[in-house]
Amino acid sequence: MTEQTFSELGLPEPLLQAVSDLGYEAPSAIQAAAIPPAMEGRDLVGLSETGSGKTAAFGIAGLTRVDPENRDVQMLVVCPTRELAVQVCGEIQRLAAKLHGLKTATIYGGAPIDRQIRALKHGAQVVVGTPGRLIDLVKRNALDLSRVQTAVLDEADRMLDMGFAEDMESILKLLPEEHQTLFFSATMNRS
Ligand code: AMP
Repeated sequence: MTEQTFSELGLPEPLLQAVSDLGYEAPSAIQAAAIPPAMEGRDLVGLSETGSGKTAAFGIAGLTRVDPENRDVQMLVVCPTRELAVQVCGEIQRLAAKLHGLKTATIYGGAPIDRQIRALKHGAQVVVGTPGRLIDLVKRNALDLSRVQTAVLDEADRMLDMGFAEDMESILKLLPEEHQTLFFSATMNRS
């Protein structure tokens, strides 16, 4: 943890309330380093292991830029596995507890697609998912990524190891020209 407080990072009140309700007393190192520039809309590369608080780092920063009154998909988090997608979406939901009207959808393969299509139809502003199923839903016209403002590639090194490079590239091509990319990896040079 750092000496700073979440309030010094400039978080809006609903997010300060949520981190306090979650019992987070101070930002972790990655949160203190990443949240202020990411809130400004800058692109970032974060090198961080699981357990460093990286999910809340990109979750908090991304949520400050989402408008709950607009039903477009505004934040996209791409994860290597279903387990991680579920975990990340759960944390984002907890962080968004005080953001009224904000909806999320978790999108992953190996599960019935109809429920995921319904969740998207209800207007999720934050979508967390695995690459193949995200692309599948775009092809079915059930997912529109053309209004995404913040794209997060979580555990990007693992996605590359798992052979998702092409899918990741296809997804990034669907985003509008003006968007922010937050790239998280445990290491830059895994051999
Ligand atoms: P992660 O690195 O995102 O997998 O997070 C590891 C764990 O730390 C998760 O269970 C989070 O809920 C928790 N966590 C994240 N940020 C903080 C914080 N600032 N203070 C205490 N716990 C935190």
